[in-house]
Amino acid sequence: MFEKILIANRGEIALRILRACKEMGIRTVAVHSTADAEAMHVRLADESVCIGPPSSSDSYLNKAAIISAAVITNAEAIHPGYGFLSENADFAEMLEEHGLTFIGPTPEHIRVMGDKVAAKRAAKESGIPVVRGSDGAVDSAEDAIKTGAEIGYPVLIKASAGGGGRGMKVAESEAEIAEAFNLASAEAKAAFGNGEVYIEKYLANPRHIEVQVLADNYGNVVHLGERDCSLQRNHQKVLEECPSPALNASERTFIGETVCNAMRKLSYRNAGTVEFLYENGEFYFIEMNTRLQVEHPVTEMVTGVDLVREQIRIANGAELDFRQKDVTFLGHAIECRINAEDPFTFTPSPGKVAGYHMPGGLGVRVDSGLFAGASIPPYYDSMIAKLIVHGKSRNECLMRLRRALSEYVIEGVTTTIPLHEKLVNATDFVDGTYDIRWLEYFVASAGE
Ligand code: ADP
Repeated sequence: MFEKILIANRGEIALRILRACKEMGIRTVAVHSTADAEAMHVRLADESVCIGPPSSSDSYLNKAAIISAAVITNAEAIHPGYGFLSENADFAEMLEEHGLTFIGPTPEHIRVMGDKVAAKRAAKESGIPVVRGSDGAVDSAEDAIKTGAEIGYPVLIKASAGGGGRGMKVAESEAEIAEAFNLASAEAKAAFGNGEVYIEKYLANPRHIEVQVLADNYGNVVHLGERDCSLQRNHQKVLEECPSPALNASERTFIGETVCNAMRKLSYRNAGTVEFLYENGEFYFIEMNTRLQVEHPVTEMVTGVDLVREQIRIANGAELDFRQKDVTFLGHAIECRINAEDPFTFTPSPGKVAGYHMPGGLGVRVDSGLFAGASIPPYYDSMIAKLIVHGKSRNECLMRLRRALSEYVIEGVTTTIPLHEKLVNATDFVDGTYDIRWLEYFVASAGE
């Protein structure tokens, strides 16, 4: 097994990875910007290296500084977490060149899945159902008009290099498509340096359902069920649950097996998540994330599988030590993403945490680097904690979540806890009947 791993990330996910390493007897190296010198992931690591000033592009995205940190500390492998360099194929390749192991899939898999047009093609060819749309990229407004007529309105124009919901525009009719094409392409160019877009049928009221997979280097692939991430704001996930209240057992088996078969065909390895929109009993592939996801704990709570541990074992060349038949799904789990933001306007609220008390008790997990006196810098993502709750049933999970939210105290900064408190009491949420558009309406009315 690796003796030392460098964690190329910050915040709660750096801690999450550090915890798995410690439980496996692996020494850890934290990297940090000057803004994070006092952060919990730095305090708990065996060693730490400052890799640059606050701006991410000079620190957590600074490939040379991170690789140098690994070399000078004799780390053998790098776990990238999520965000930052986790889906950067060039970085994964550079590690190989330096004799370091990237804890994740191959650079080729990262590259294919990072280009949404290529990803959709690969998914389709390996038997995964996809949303109807353009055959590859759309090059001009005229081409967009032609595609719109073929697939029928409304349509969604999406960036090939997309991420975080940017570069996406809806066109309700032919009158709107040329402008939507130009806007999406310009936005994609500004955000990703690549203006290539493609077109999909715009689904009216889908749910977002994703399947977690693990694959080793010996052809063993297992799925760990699905997560329902339909509660979104600006295409960003807010709360996730496992299992989805919308799926029945045969749909769950169908989509899990479909994804496993496709991953076998693609010779995928390590952890990955295949994302779908789900409407009227049908699944439509939207993208694959070739990394650990923010919401992975709900899967861990229900299956008992430590996903980070498995990622590390697989990267080290170990065989998966369980098979699909060994995976059991027990009860229900929900995760609330807690951000340092106004709960209804979502204006960021960085600052110093004056007081801190986190919930505990049976079935309650908090993944966070917060403590009283911690500072939340303004330079990074505003997510500061994840509250994950498990129960034997969805109802027990909801009762426990309400209790846990009521105990959580974070003073000195504004957080989204009040939004979650309203959310877990809303009838549509309790009934599990929500879709991906529901939260926007709810936030608009809850904030009044
Ligand atoms: P990104 O990588 O930018 O997050 P995704 O393709 O994962 O983009 O889509 C993000 C979200 O956008 C989805 O969860 C869903 O809410 C919405 N979306 C994407 N494709 C469609 C579609 N064809 N119809 C309706 N909504 C969509």
